[in-house]
Amino acid sequence: MGTCAGTNKDGTSCSNAALDGSRYCHVHQGAEGQSADAHAEDEYSFGTMLAGALAVSVVTYFLLHIVLGV
Ligand SMILES: [Zn+2]
Repeated sequence: MGTCAGTNKDGTSCSNAALDGSRYCHVHQGAEGQSADAHAEDEYSFGTMLAGALAVSVVTYFLLHIVLGV
């Protein structure tokens, strides 16, 4: 029993206590092996969010030009 060997989503080491007979806490227990997929999913979500924000900015920019005639 000790500290969890898992890594948090922000890249820092997990500071939770590891479960008995495991190197991981209740959060990372069972997530081991899926972390790569979860990480990829996070990056995909972030990229999608960024693309969405960029699209909104571009649309707003052109709408302002059209409506205000700037
Ligand atoms: Zn943990």
